[in-house]
Amino acid sequence: MASERQNRLDVVQFGRMLHGNGFVAATDGNLSVRLDERRLLVTPTCISKGRMRASDMVIVDMDGKRLSGKRRVSSELAMHLLIYRLRPDVQGIVHAHPPTATGFAASGYDLNRPLVCEVVVGLGSIPLARYGTPGTPELTDALEPLIPNHDAILMANHGVVTFGSSLESAYMKMETVEHFAKIALVTHLLGNEQPLGEKEVEKLHQVRHLYNGGGIAAPPRMPVAGDDLRADRLQSNLRSDLQSDDEPRETAGSRR
Ligand SMILES: [Zn+2]
Repeated sequence: MASERQNRLDVVQFGRMLHGNGFVAATDGNLSVRLDERRLLVTPTCISKGRMRASDMVIVDMDGKRLSGKRRVSSELAMHLLIYRLRPDVQGIVHAHPPTATGFAASGYDLNRPLVCEVVVGLGSIPLARYGTPGTPELTDALEPLIPNHDAILMANHGVVTFGSSLESAYMKMETVEHFAKIALVTHLLGNEQPLGEKEVEKLHQVRHLYNGGGIAAPPRMPVAGDDLRADRLQSNLRSDLQSDDEPRETAGSRR
């Protein structure tokens, strides 16, 4: 297991990468690592994730009580605690607001369409959790049912949370989600989406199972087919977009 010092340096590094890639603005976002069975290393609130120092981090116990660190801990700590509680396999968590994926989340779309084979293998589906006010039980209640079977979740009108067997793995999933959101957007704009069929998806699930160690029980994070598919909805939205191009559209502003 990595030393606390190394974990602090990793948080600094992946925070810089989050900021450098434009996945967060200002002081948005938060990262955490499980140090051992009873302690988490978490980023502080009110600091740019692009310019943190190793000494800025806060250590809390599994009830969220601060054990060390001078700064105040992230206001999204409850979300991190919930994920670590529900997923003993998770060692690192990243939360950010990458613009394209967050745009999907603000439009009521999940990223469950099987458009790219490697995303199906790597992440399965990426569901959308209903909106909840940050820092309140609304948010954790919305995420709770999705955490056991997914490693990446869109949060409506908010952002994305990803988690994995290391902080690096969690961070990489954040990159994958944002990259896939861009691909899904371009695919949608081109208007000729060709999602993988159920048979192909099934084969990819088998590959995923092998990647996960075959016999090792891995959570079935893969409800990509069937009801999760939003083809009808996306396609009909696209059609109505195309048809109503010259009509004035209701905007968020005009509704107020
Ligand atoms: Zn946030």
